[in-house]
Amino acid sequence: MRPVIGVTAAFHEEEERAFLSRHYSDGIYRAGGLPVILPPLSPEAAATVISPIDGLLLSDGGDIDPFYFGEEPLPQTETVSPHRDAFELALSQEALARLVPVLGICRGMQVLNVAAGGTIYQDLAAGARNSLKHRQEAPRWHGTHYIDILAGSHLAAIFRTTRLSVNSFHHQAIRKVTPGFKATAWAPDGITEGIEATAHPFAIGVQFHPEGMWKKNPLFLALFETLVTACRAQRK
Ligand code: MN
Repeated sequence: MRPVIGVTAAFHEEEERAFLSRHYSDGIYRAGGLPVILPPLSPEAAATVISPIDGLLLSDGGDIDPFYFGEEPLPQTETVSPHRDAFELALSQEALARLVPVLGICRGMQVLNVAAGGTIYQDLAAGARNSLKHRQEAPRWHGTHYIDILAGSHLAAIFRTTRLSVNSFHHQAIRKVTPGFKATAWAPDGITEGIEATAHPFAIGVQFHPEGMWKKNPLFLALFETLVTACRAQRK
């Protein structure tokens, strides 16, 4: 049986419409999992949602409301989705508490960090000095900056390298990595591009978009395959 991987949906607040890029569902299916889309329910529903799924994938999307890391919004903060924020933060806390394998991508990595008490930069240009171009205008499948990966980390094992060229579509980034996690990948400007939990079998976040790259570069499917493998191991 394929492990069931719940993938959080993007949410259009005005149209009340949840949606997900096929890059995710195709990637999870190709990696051996069964993807299901999780629309943003109430935060109280998070415990009910987490129990039947084997793993969680927090997908990419808009900005996290700075309320959740104790800040007022800067002018650079863009579209926020209150329904999505509340649901995903509650869901992340459930996954972390119940040791459900969880992978956060881009916004998803930031959600994981904020859910566990960390902070993010609302805007790299406003908050971080000398940051590189992290909002590429090249195609999604094309890597534009490299990352250095900590030797011996989960990410180094997954990609079997400590240096990787990745795509980049973010103006926010992790500021303070929450206790319980450690940074394991960085862009050349020092911006955190990967985190992993220290006391959880599989809680990993990446700032880049493997879902946008795996069709051109199969190496990036390894992240989804490892998630599926972790779900199988957890189920036994
Ligand atoms: Mn980047």
